[in-house]
Amino acid sequence: MDFSFSEEDDLLREVLRKYALEQLLPDYASWKERPFPREKIEELGELGVLGIRIPQEYGGMSGSFVSLGVATEELSRGDFNVSYFLQLGTIAAAILGNGAPEEIKSEWLPAVASGEKVLSFGLTEPSVGSDAANLATMALPEGSDFLITGEKASITFAGFADACIVFARTGGPGARGISSFFVPLDLPGVSRQVYSSAGGHLSRRGSLFFDSVRVPATNRIGEEGVGFVQAMTAFDFNRSVIALACIGTAMQAMDETILYTKERTTFGKPLAKHEGVAFQVAEHLAQLHAARLLAYEVLSLADAGKKHTAESAMAKWLGPKFSVEAIHACMLLHGWSGYGTDMPFSQRLQDVIGLEVGDGTPEIMKSVIAREVYGREFAAYK
Ligand SMILES: Cc1cc2nc3c(=O)[nH]c(=O)nc-3n(C[C@H](O)[C@H](O)[C@H](O)COP(=O)(O)OP(=O)(O)OC[C@H]3O[C@@H](n4cnc5c(N)ncnc54)[C@H](O)[C@@H]3O)c2cc1C
Repeated sequence: MDFSFSEEDDLLREVLRKYALEQLLPDYASWKERPFPREKIEELGELGVLGIRIPQEYGGMSGSFVSLGVATEELSRGDFNVSYFLQLGTIAAAILGNGAPEEIKSEWLPAVASGEKVLSFGLTEPSVGSDAANLATMALPEGSDFLITGEKASITFAGFADACIVFARTGGPGARGISSFFVPLDLPGVSRQVYSSAGGHLSRRGSLFFDSVRVPATNRIGEEGVGFVQAMTAFDFNRSVIALACIGTAMQAMDETILYTKERTTFGKPLAKHEGVAFQVAEHLAQLHAARLLAYEVLSLADAGKKHTAESAMAKWLGPKFSVEAIHACMLLHGWSGYGTDMPFSQRLQDVIGLEVGDGTPEIMKSVIAREVYGREFAAYK
């Protein structure tokens, strides 16, 4: 087994860590009060990180999944929520790249890679999240068009996305009746509502409403009935990307805490010399390291074109869980100052908790692992 990163990925890590700590971290908590500027998204585009997985012919980098993981981990050290742009850019590349007609790909993928346009992913609805195969949004054929009606809930970037990959029912009940559609969000019949959230303010999560929104039939992505498989295939790699976003944020908190516990003294010695403190740091580092290796294993499997569904669900369960635990400990180890909002710990904690839920909860991750181990005939929903 080879545990080393390529020279290019080492360089990417170095450049992005510097950018994250100098350009993102100082403003991290401020996006609660003001919108994340479009110029800043375009700056990410200039760094090349939004199009890592977008083919070069469409303005991207044609990079590996491992490179995507490195970029996500490093940028999340500065601002966890910036990782959403990488996730959505990659999901767009995967779903549009594999199924959208040429005119959509050539117009939208370069715009996503440059940061000029932002895409969203519309699967969840008010009544279905974990049980997404039961979604109710309808896409009814009318002449050479489809009319889409329904509400998509808890959508990252709902407040400002330019388009959405909308999953809607075109056939009978269950997963096989679902197709995906590319829907520009300036079409008549689209409206938005932004939620007030515990964290993740930058992402302006909310609902997208579709009231008989008319799209040409050519905006259906891929064959009829393959939408659910497209969504699950995207989850397979994105769950490890999410794990690395959480771990990057937690590792930055750990690094800050290691420095702090060397400097702060109680009872005549540095905090780090109290075993009760140093052992906490050791335990969280060990947990984060294990989850990190797992996440990179998944991305290597994805690069090799090998199956990684169970491993990715494991990473998505453990990455956010260990990160939440680590950040919580870092906050406490900073004492009264860690609880203040001028320190980033509470923001990090609230942000990372969001992705304990998003893209699949711990229970759903465990049911994916169990299904892969026992076989589909033992799945609870069968
Ligand atoms: C920060 C954030 C960003 C998100 N971004 C997006 C996005 O961009 N696009 C999108 O489509 N969705 C998005 N989501 C939605 C997310 O994917 C769903 O919230 C998630 O899949 C869970 O669905 P739910 O909220 O409906 O919970 P439910 O499915 O109602 O589950 C509620 C609780 O019950 C548990 N539960 C459910 N079923 C079972 C079971 N069979 N066995 C044991 N326990 C069970 C769950 O684990 C959970 O704890 C986002 C959510 C968050 C928090």
